[in-house]
Amino acid sequence: MGYIPCGLHFDRLLSFTVAAGGSDGVADTVTETGAHDVEFRSVSKRYGDVVAVANVDLAIPKGAFVALLGPSGCGKTTCLRMIGGFEQPSQGTVSIDGRPMNGVPPYRRPVNMVFQHYALFPHLDVEANVSYGLRQMRPRIDRREVARRTAEALELVRLGGFAGRRIHEMSGGQQQRVALARAIVNRPAVLLLDEPLAALDRKLRTAMQIELQSLQRELGITFLLVTHDQEEALSMSDLVCVMNAGQVIQMAPPQEVYDRPGTLFVADFVGKTNRLPGVVEAGGGVLRLADGRRLSVASPAPGPVTAILRPEAIGIVQGEGGHDGLPGTVTHRIFLGNSVEYAVAADGLGEMLVTVDRGGAHRLVQPGDRVTLRFSPESLLVFST
Ligand code: ADP
Ligand code: MG
Repeated sequence: MGYIPCGLHFDRLLSFTVAAGGSDGVADTVTETGAHDVEFRSVSKRYGDVVAVANVDLAIPKGAFVALLGPSGCGKTTCLRMIGGFEQPSQGTVSIDGRPMNGVPPYRRPVNMVFQHYALFPHLDVEANVSYGLRQMRPRIDRREVARRTAEALELVRLGGFAGRRIHEMSGGQQQRVALARAIVNRPAVLLLDEPLAALDRKLRTAMQIELQSLQRELGITFLLVTHDQEEALSMSDLVCVMNAGQVIQMAPPQEVYDRPGTLFVADFVGKTNRLPGVVEAGGGVLRLADGRRLSVASPAPGPVTAILRPEAIGIVQGEGGHDGLPGTVTHRIFLGNSVEYAVAADGLGEMLVTVDRGGAHRLVQPGDRVTLRFSPESLLVFST
């Protein structure tokens, strides 16, 4: 079968290298000691036979908003609990602000945690919940000072008028804010948030995402937010730390994690993907797809690979463009409000997902139509498999 240039710039080599980033991405963020609020050195945590966290090195820069992202059970909460002091590592060292925390109890650490289920005191009112930590402090803090700081924390989460309310009289979103106020009232250096928005409905969640971001900027402290929601991680944080099976796979700014995922797992987890399995031919530079079609790519090593294409990197045109692009038949059209998602059965390659902005030529494309999928070679991400 001949070489099919797809009418695209296949002479331009892809700059993407296989599995770039990875643990290197983490190492890159390690600049100098003292510039980090939280540091993991070869940290593992085992529960009997279960390895919850496996040999993790991690450096959270001071004042950053970091999202810990990964599927359920990958060890996110365990990492947070080891920083908070609620769990001890089986191996390795957790340091906060350069100080190893081995054996330091939670209340002596400059961190606070917002738990997944808030853990508020239902029998106390909002003010008593928020001021609880301050009232436990020794030496004692003056009562007026406690009241002042409590009011300030409530103001920060926009619950100024709610001090006397009982917890059960508050909505889910308001309880969330109470938990936040309680966690920031003693001004920790690091705030740990364990899926704090998971229980809220979509609209409220979006609003709280924006508020959390501005709260973090206002306080200027480090936020470490655990989430299994990639959209939340990408939209809120300065750095995304992607975890899987107890390990950190990649840590990088959101855009980099999305555009240059370090592994196939990251590519799949942080966005929708189309997979094109194939083989890079000896000599490199040419990817032979399952159906024999050949595309030009830059890949360092010949051998089996999976190329990834994001749905929004693909253009869709009516009819068959000859050698120009991948031909196929539209099977589904899903209206998403500001965009349209198409499922296209690409000839010999299986179903491909294509997302296009609303409006424009694609309006004419209907299920059953023959179409051509176009993409630039730069948008092909190639991973050795
Ligand atoms: P995530 O927060 O990413 O969903 P966790 O950190 O809660 O994951 O859990 C990681 C792994 O450790 C899971 O397999 C979980 O079942 C296990 N695990 C967590 N806590 C305990 C515990 N106290 N005892 C036994 N196994 C645990
Ligand atoms: Mg968890």
